[in-house]
Amino acid sequence: MKVYKFGGASVSSIERIKATAAIAKTVSEELILIVISAMGKTTNALERVAEAFYGKQRDEAINLFTAIKVDHLSTAKQLLAQNYLETESRLAGFFTEIEWMLYDNPVREYDYYYDQIVCIGELLSTAIVSAYFNEVGITNTWIDVRDVLRSDDEFREATIDWNFSLQRTELIIQPLLQSIGMVITQGFIAATDENESTTLGREGSDYTAAVFANMLNAESLTIWKDVKGVLNADPRQFKEAALISELNYKEVLEMAYYGAQVIHPKTIKPLQNKNIPMYVKCFLDSSLPGTIIHDGSIKALPPIIVIKTEQVLLQMTSNDFSFISDQVDGQFYRLFQQYHIKPNITQNGAISFVCVIDDHAEKINTLALDLSQTFNVQIEKNLTLITIKHYTQDVLDELTLGKHILLKQQWQDTVQIVIR
Ligand code: ASP
Ligand code: MG
Repeated sequence: MKVYKFGGASVSSIERIKATAAIAKTVSEELILIVISAMGKTTNALERVAEAFYGKQRDEAINLFTAIKVDHLSTAKQLLAQNYLETESRLAGFFTEIEWMLYDNPVREYDYYYDQIVCIGELLSTAIVSAYFNEVGITNTWIDVRDVLRSDDEFREATIDWNFSLQRTELIIQPLLQSIGMVITQGFIAATDENESTTLGREGSDYTAAVFANMLNAESLTIWKDVKGVLNADPRQFKEAALISELNYKEVLEMAYYGAQVIHPKTIKPLQNKNIPMYVKCFLDSSLPGTIIHDGSIKALPPIIVIKTEQVLLQMTSNDFSFISDQVDGQFYRLFQQYHIKPNITQNGAISFVCVIDDHAEKINTLALDLSQTFNVQIEKNLTLITIKHYTQDVLDELTLGKHILLKQQWQDTVQIVIR
């Protein structure tokens, strides 16, 4: 069997949903699980609803939510004829769940409400797309992934309970694949043992698709995107960004880890563990070859450039000239864990410790306050982190020309620089 994943951009308009159907049609005779994201920018719009609700701006929350409702109903109306009423009532069920909540006052933590509200994006998109596929003869069945994937209750960053979810996958999805052939479900979301919805981190649908590929022993995973495949740089930042037709797991995992927006960083492990190849293909032109990612070793890769803006450099210096290594021992990492901060670069000196992190203003201020009990803390914001894998001196010179370099780290053929 195969797993396909369609991102939000591939279902962001009527035309695109039709193009997605044309791709699905070509595999409609195979056993296939299709994971689909929320339509277009729905997840961002739902985040605004959650923020308004939690900020006790009920009218605002309801207005924002109504706009999302209207959009989805109109998409369903334009796509569906005989399946419209059934789909409308399925959508209405999801709407009601959220509306009930919006009329209440928040009593739990923000992340809990975020997940209850935001998870609906993928439920709506998959319900509509599944109904449309059936209507145009691409026979499939829709399932609520929250009945299959169980997670812990670390809302917004939930971890999948692998054993339980595997059993459910075998119990629920396997037989449907055998009897119906195509199963359509959501990425990014799961549920706790108390049936509360959870999310797996933004852009987490790639990861869900990889989890299913692993659990179902898929022959391959194909991620359909609006780019030609994996490029050696972000085409929005570099006009000359070029397609890389073949990569290995490690290379892609590192690119994602350093911040490339190719795929979710957690996607690779479930695939690597079962040696399942991943194809990144362009839904705008499925005849393009795309990128294949597998286990092999690949020679002569071009320089791969990853740029992360909005970086913050934190420098902690011991107040009394004691060696930083005597104090650091685990302390920084405990704090990072507590604040869910992942440092992008760290560096130890004699009496100071430097790290570069993404700018989450609220977290950084409390973290700095915490650290300032023990250390002299200095913060510099608005920096850019450039990572170049397989770098050449020319590329490095070009990217740093006229820039002030604050930090540089080099390891094998990867270089990372922080510039002002
Ligand atoms: N819809 C979610 C997001 O935009 C998950 C995904 O698309 O991967 O983050
Ligand atoms: Mg997406």
